Amino acid sequence: MGGYGSGRNGYKVLTSRKMSLDIRTLKRKGYLNPGMHFSWYWKMNNGQEAGSINICTGNDGLSLNYKLRNNEGGWQTIETLVELDWTSCHFGSRRPWFLCPRCSKRVAILYGGKYFNCRNCHCLAYPSENESQTDRLYRKVWKLREQLNAPINMTRPILFKPKGMHWSTFIRLTDKAHQLESQIYSEIGCQFRIK
Ligand SMILES: [Zn+2]
Repeated sequence: MGGYGSGRNGYKVLTSRKMSLDIRTLKRKGYLNPGMHFSWYWKMNNGQEAGSINICTGNDGLSLNYKLRNNEGGWQTIETLVELDWTSCHFGSRRPWFLCPRCSKRVAILYGGKYFNCRNCHCLAYPSENESQTDRLYRKVWKLREQLNAPINMTRPILFKPKGMHWSTFIRLTDKAHQLESQIYSEIGCQFRIK
């Protein structure tokens, strides 16, 4: 199993949510065959190990085993089952997918955090205040854009002053909309800063 495998005794730390598992890589390396048992490592830029997990393959899924440090400084062992799904491609080949353990959607990449889930589920796992905060910002922007007769679409510019509106009002509302939009972009940005 080359450089990957200390196997059953190789419990290590999962330290960062930036760790991802790509099913295409596992397949390419032949690691999806039932009965495999190996460790998967992530390296930091400086070459040091960032974390690792143990993976066992069954007929229709993988089990992921790892230890996490809990708040009290102890260790928590986590075992997650990830089901696999296969779709047919051209020429009779089959393409594997993970079924996200949380939402069951087919995905090619799972992201580590406390648990391995799809990118979407990791975003939803952020505190709900964050979501409603973003929703609130969107509502304010749409309202302003309506007042300004501008497209209800943040990627389109606010160009024309509505008839009868004072220039000072137009500039003030446009500034306000731009300010809210950049807040939304930074909110969305932080929700997707996983990889
Ligand atoms: Zn999911």
